[in-house]
This record gives sequence, structure tokens and C-alpha cells, in this order.
Amino acid sequence: MNESCCGVATPAHWSERIRDVADFPKPGILFKDIIPLLADGPDFAAALDAMAQPWRGTPLDAVLGIESRGFILGAALAHELRTGFVPIRKPGKLPGRILTQEYELEYGRDRIEIQADALFPGARVLIVDDVLATGGTLRASVALVRQLQFEIVGAAVLVELEALQGRARWSDPVPLLATLTY
Ligand code: AMP
Repeated sequence: MNESCCGVATPAHWSERIRDVADFPKPGILFKDIIPLLADGPDFAAALDAMAQPWRGTPLDAVLGIESRGFILGAALAHELRTGFVPIRKPGKLPGRILTQEYELEYGRDRIEIQADALFPGARVLIVDDVLATGGTLRASVALVRQLQFEIVGAAVLVELEALQGRARWSDPVPLLATLTY
């Protein structure tokens, strides 16, 4: 932390605003809480700028954001990159014709969904989430998007937790870029 004017401590780097919360939402999980980062205008802007930088100049039709923190970062990133935004949602939230992908959780299974007519076959998309942990969510998103025959240009996460080896489950030739790794 730097001491700035008037005795107010400000982070030297925006990443310091990502807070570690032990044992949330259950024992043994070290949760990366990005809300303090989102709450600070200049640091949120700096984080988005860093996240967007590798994709500037890449032709895109839309960012696909994964519920729910992927909506916040994904929609902001879509604005930054001047492209569209389409949500990948938890079950039962989307109207109209939807496509579904099931995936394994640590205990049990879950599903994600997307609207079938959100884009067009061949649309160039960037998949966005806040954290890459075990990689299951991102891998399911790829499978979901492939059902619609979109062209996946890449995936972007703000934080990668390397110890959980999510990148090993990506196994895709398209780039998966993390702005911060822990
Ligand atoms: P995974 O499918 O294991 O890669 O988990 C990724 C999803 O779970 C992301 O949507 C994250 O928001 C959330 N997540 C998993 N682990 C964490 C963590 N330690 N801190 C914050 N979010 C997490």
C-alpha cells in the first residue's frame, strides 16, 4: 500500500483490491473476492484495461459472460472492446429456445444455458469469467458454445488459481488468457 494525500492509504496496484476470504463458501476454499476491486472506479478501470489489452484489434461479434461475476466483467469488457454481450446462465433463467450443457461439480452435476438464437453460426466469441479454478465451468461453456457452432476466439479470466490446474482441462488450441495468476 502507498500512503497518498491526506493519510488515505491507496493500493499500489489494482490487484491488491482482490481480497482473499478463507473458508468461503465452504471450509477449505480460499475465495477470491473481487467486489472491493469493482467498487473502486480507477482500479476497476485499470483491471478492465489489462484484461482487454490482449484482445484489442481481434475481430469479435460478442463476449459471452458466465453467470454471475462473468456478467460484470464480461459486459464491461464488451463495452471496452466495442462488441456485443451474451449471457451464459444457470438453469431456468433464460426465455425462448435454449441450449443446455451439463457438467460435473465436486459433488453432483450442474447445468449452464444459452439462448439458441442469441447469435449466428460462425459468430466470433470471447468467453469471460472472473476466476479459473478447476476449469469445469469454462470447459462446459466451450461445449455449450460448440453446440451453436460459434467460433471461439479465446477465453479470458481475471484470476487463474494455478494450483487447481484448470488450464489442463482447457485442452483447446484457442488461447486462454489470465490477467493475474496465483
Ligand atoms: P471452476 O469451474 O472450478 O473453474 O470454477 C470457476 C467458477 O467458480 C467461476 O465462475 C468462479 O466464479 C467460481 N470460483 C471457483 N473457485 C473460486 C474461488 N476460489 N474464488 C472465487 N470464485 C471461485
